[in-house]
Amino acid sequence: MKYVTEAMTTGWISSTGKYVQGFEEAFAQYTGVRHAVAVCNGTVALHLALTALGVKEGDEVIIPNFTMIASAFAVCYTGAIPVFVDIDPHTWNIDVRQIEAKITPRTKVIMPVHIFGLMCDMDPIRDLAKTYGLRVLEDAAESHGATYKGKKAGAVSDISSFSFFANKNLTTGEGGMVLTDDPDLFQRSKYYKNLCFPIDGSRTYFHEDIGFNYRMSNLHAAIGLAQVERADEYKAMRVRNGHWYRRHLEGIPGVRWQTVDRPADYENVYWMNSIAVEPKEFGATREELIAHLKANNIDTRLFFIGMNKQSSLLKFGSSPEGEYPHTDRLSAQGFYLPSSSQLTEATIEEICGVIRSFQRSR
Ligand SMILES: *Cc1c(COP(=O)(O)O)cnc(C)c1O
Repeated sequence: MKYVTEAMTTGWISSTGKYVQGFEEAFAQYTGVRHAVAVCNGTVALHLALTALGVKEGDEVIIPNFTMIASAFAVCYTGAIPVFVDIDPHTWNIDVRQIEAKITPRTKVIMPVHIFGLMCDMDPIRDLAKTYGLRVLEDAAESHGATYKGKKAGAVSDISSFSFFANKNLTTGEGGMVLTDDPDLFQRSKYYKNLCFPIDGSRTYFHEDIGFNYRMSNLHAAIGLAQVERADEYKAMRVRNGHWYRRHLEGIPGVRWQTVDRPADYENVYWMNSIAVEPKEFGATREELIAHLKANNIDTRLFFIGMNKQSSLLKFGSSPEGEYPHTDRLSAQGFYLPSSSQLTEATIEEICGVIRSFQRSR
């Protein structure tokens, strides 16, 4: 409120204003990356990062089949082809063992998505990129502050992208950011974000390339700076909720969640508290459980649908049924439990109790 009021009363409401740079610097520092470019949402952040990487028509970009639609659309905006890889059934992230088979001479970028706040196994992805001369773009929209081997999401690739939509762990209402250590990618991101105005200020209205207006306003950045200043506190609330959920869901037959082989390497920030229901073991379907929760005043949301099933993407994903079995199964079994940072342990215990007693009654 203080920062937004300051921006309002001083009249600095456009993208010119001290909070934009303040937010960029603070979030870059928080993430452990050198450069940051604030933009107006996470979808355009992905498009800007792909543009900075030089992705163009005819190129291919490898993405997980199970993700939020913006990951695929951003690739389409460049004219490139999104190439889908199924997920690992345990981590729910891109299956790193299946990436190599999808690399072709046209592949330019691998875009791992850290789904629901849990980072991908980045070492093998970076090894593959090195072997094949590819770049890596992290879609870190769901994983502010998550870590992998001690490094934060957004800091383990050539360039990364964040969203600050209202339901993300850090928010500006609508907003996004591109982060990179590479000075060249940083310059290109700034250039394309602002209509390709010459970066050096020379020949002001002369534009050599077609750019975009993806600027973030000072008002949004004012919210963002305040959010980053309390990022550790917000992260702790999400992590605490995630642990409470797991403790209270422990041992319910047929309830699954994201797991990793080496838990010590990962710090999950639990953007969404997500579970999947194995109907046979649980004794009821996801839909029956959701209806039972609803009857008990507990709201839920369904998981994303696989990219191969999106009619908008059919020309890229036209694949025989069963090519993405783990995505298909997860989309059919998964849903989000209430995930607000402000939940109390009593509420979480109550929600899990409703699930447990429903399972016992089956
Ligand atoms: C939210 C999200 C985006 C898009 O962010 P917006 O700010 O809503 O445009 C992109 N990728 C993933 C994985 C997301 O969850």
